Amino acid sequence: MMTTPLVEMDGDEMTRILWQMIKDELLLPFIDLKTEYYDLGLEHRNETDDQVTVESAEATKKYGVAVKCATITPNAARMDEYHLKEMWKSPNGTIRAILDGTVFRTPITVKGIEPCVKNWKKPITLARHAYGDVYKNAEIKVPGAGKAELVFTAADGTETRELIHNFKGAGIIQGMHNTDESITNFAKCCFNYALDTKQDLWFATKDTISKKYDHNFKDIFQEIFDRDYAEKFKEAGIEYFYTLIDDAVARVMKAEGGFIWACKNYDGDVMSDMVSSAFGSLAMMTSVLVSPTGVYEYEAAHGTVQRHYYKHLKGEETSTNSVATIFAWSGALRKRGELDGNEALVKFANKLERSTLQTIQEGKMTKDLALITTMDEIVTLNSQDFIKAIRKTLETYI
Ligand code: NAP
Ligand code: MG
Repeated sequence: MMTTPLVEMDGDEMTRILWQMIKDELLLPFIDLKTEYYDLGLEHRNETDDQVTVESAEATKKYGVAVKCATITPNAARMDEYHLKEMWKSPNGTIRAILDGTVFRTPITVKGIEPCVKNWKKPITLARHAYGDVYKNAEIKVPGAGKAELVFTAADGTETRELIHNFKGAGIIQGMHNTDESITNFAKCCFNYALDTKQDLWFATKDTISKKYDHNFKDIFQEIFDRDYAEKFKEAGIEYFYTLIDDAVARVMKAEGGFIWACKNYDGDVMSDMVSSAFGSLAMMTSVLVSPTGVYEYEAAHGTVQRHYYKHLKGEETSTNSVATIFAWSGALRKRGELDGNEALVKFANKLERSTLQTIQEGKMTKDLALITTMDEIVTLNSQDFIKAIRKTLETYI
């Protein structure tokens, strides 16, 4: 039985097909599923002038927990394919802007799918700051000799200048920024998530070189930690650890895992792809958006698996991995259960995850995993049969 509804954000293509199968086979037979449903499928986003995306984010603020299916971010080809009125923005971007959150990505580890880095025994969760720096830069290609300066004009008109370089010939310059507000929110999200998942938090920048810019990140994290979190971390038996980014990279490679790695925007972009590919597959990666006020939106890290969807439409068999989408549901249900003091719901979420992993460990898996597993005796299942196999395992627990 559920007391508070989850905000359910349906999506597109193959993941929309998996979404329904997961509900039919793994949720509805076992729990009294309550959701407030928002159809973020591209057709409906187009019909509502994308208002449905905004409404779903507002509902997430209201209820506190959402689960989202992968959605198409339109490009030129999608304009024609779906006869769109406009090239609607990425729903994830819209939702992230409204919730002002940080995305945490965690690999789903299972025996038989081994990380490339052999000493990684536990998952490494990557938290990427999603605002500013080089992603909101201003650039000039310098044609020839001249002086480049940074100029800040305060509200009262006072100017502050810093020489960048006296150019003798052609070159390039770039200006970038961040805000204390965004960095503060990022820090809070990271500290809260570390407490929530009882894992150490690592953060790294290049503050020895970037003595004002990166140092500001380091200082804000440290101030907030000392003021609001040091005690709580102690009680939870976890640590906040700051180091230089190059040191962090070296340590990550030698570490066992089991911690959260908070990264500035660019570092997070690069390192999340390294960590996820080294752990195996995007289809085995969860993603949760956490707002600084403690609102959660769970999803899979991969997209709508378009290529498989077109096969499905032609009536061909697909073997699409539903694990990340199942874990989006279990993550959301567990969080809902925790917030509502609904222990039975928490237990169900745990059983759903355990059944999913056990099914794979018994050698039943989709094609993407069959290609990379270290197990010998395996059965490769299609999309539907894999979910049915998980249901069989789940029934033994319930
Ligand atoms: P994708 O959907 O992640 O798929 C890329 C390829 O990765 C697939 O063709 C497939 O490889 C493999 N793959 C991904 N997920 C898989 C799964 N669950 N099981 C098995 N294989 C899987 O990325 P995309 O094709 O670049 O993007 C498709 C659409 O998704 C785009 O419209 C994009 O805008 C959207 N997107 C949405 C989100 C989101 O909502 N969070 C994120 C990223 C992309 P093979 O073809 O080799 O089997
Ligand atoms: Mg990237």
